[in-house]
Amino acid sequence: MNLPVLLKHYLLARHSARRRQTREELEARQHRKVTAFLTATLAKSPFFASYYKGLALEDWRNWPTTDKALMMANFDEWNTLGMSKAEAFETASRAEHDRDFVAPPGGITVGLSSGTSGNRGLFLVSPKERAAWAGAVLAKTLPGPLWQQQRIAFFLRADSSLYQTVRSRRIAFRYFDMSRPPGMHLAPLQQLAPTLLVAPPSMLRLLAEAQLEGRLAIAPRKIIAVAEVLEPIDRAYIEGAFQMELHQVYQCTEGFLGSTCAHGTLHLNEDILVVEREYLDDAKRMFSPIITDFSRTSQPIIRYRLNDVLTLSEQPCPCGSAHTALAAVSGRADDIFYGLTVHTEEQVPVFADFVRRSVMFAADQIEEYRIIQHSPTELEAALRIKGDEAVVRQALQEQICKLFDGLGCHVPRVRFVPYHFEPGLVKLRRLQRSYVLH
Ligand SMILES: [Zn+2]
Repeated sequence: MNLPVLLKHYLLARHSARRRQTREELEARQHRKVTAFLTATLAKSPFFASYYKGLALEDWRNWPTTDKALMMANFDEWNTLGMSKAEAFETASRAEHDRDFVAPPGGITVGLSSGTSGNRGLFLVSPKERAAWAGAVLAKTLPGPLWQQQRIAFFLRADSSLYQTVRSRRIAFRYFDMSRPPGMHLAPLQQLAPTLLVAPPSMLRLLAEAQLEGRLAIAPRKIIAVAEVLEPIDRAYIEGAFQMELHQVYQCTEGFLGSTCAHGTLHLNEDILVVEREYLDDAKRMFSPIITDFSRTSQPIIRYRLNDVLTLSEQPCPCGSAHTALAAVSGRADDIFYGLTVHTEEQVPVFADFVRRSVMFAADQIEEYRIIQHSPTELEAALRIKGDEAVVRQALQEQICKLFDGLGCHVPRVRFVPYHFEPGLVKLRRLQRSYVLH
């Protein structure tokens, strides 16, 4: 572990959180960082040298965007390590299957992102980048300073050596494997008595249930939701069970994008990367992020469009940070519902926040739900309800009718199925679209 680099980035991130900076100052700093980063990267990455050839450096915010498909199609020329896609894929597969795997020379971590088989991304991280990442993560998530003793419980779908980076003499780090039955984790978790609990919302919800029923009695100083959309319905339940504010980390293989401040507001980590906005709605509240990570050189992430939908907060955060405040990471763009307009048969988006509101307005008795859109006129709903099921179903049907009708769309038929979900290898998506848009 490159401790000096880790400490440097830990202190930088801590400093940035305390710094009083205007939005203009923040953007000026980003501009300096990005132009220096681009100058160095274009000299080292054959792909970017040709992709951005002849464009004015100062004008980088208008350069063509990139995405995962483009990166995977140009993998060999894109990265600056001279690693081929075949080589990287073999290394990643070996690391996934073989626990005794020895890291390749140079200590480069190769990771495979989740996704359907044809759509998985390959990610390269150098030891220095790993240390920088760990420093920033620790600064933004630990419930106390780095030199304080911590016991971290981390629930993940796959172990990653990246996360093991944070282990140290003062920080006990225990990984809980989500591919195992959830009930098996209660006793070891109780024994660890974590000061920091990090898990996807679906797992936190299950732990919250155990806590409420007396099968678990832990008192972490901080709880952080990761890796799944944090739905308001789950947030309220988890916060109620543990009697504390729930924090969030917004992290993906492409970067460490966001984390909550002391007030519990999710801010974009604009001290370590630039997040531009591709707006999705006329009100300009929702957008897909286009990220430029000016600290990552092994596999440059430049004007890289992510498939997520982020919702801006309507009020500024009382912490006064110049970093963008989000109301929510609302889901994936692929999961946005679409309605079919009655008059022109056009497809129009029905954003997740509206569907969530419909569920909330329908009935207090809905404890958990999943809604899948199978076609513009067909929804499948699974509800976990306390109380009269027929009444709640009727109420939800009416709210859905109101929502689609209000948008001038055909009202979809709602088919009800039994609710079932167990936290594990499959991510919980309460709102999901099962068909591809044409
Ligand atoms: Zn804040």
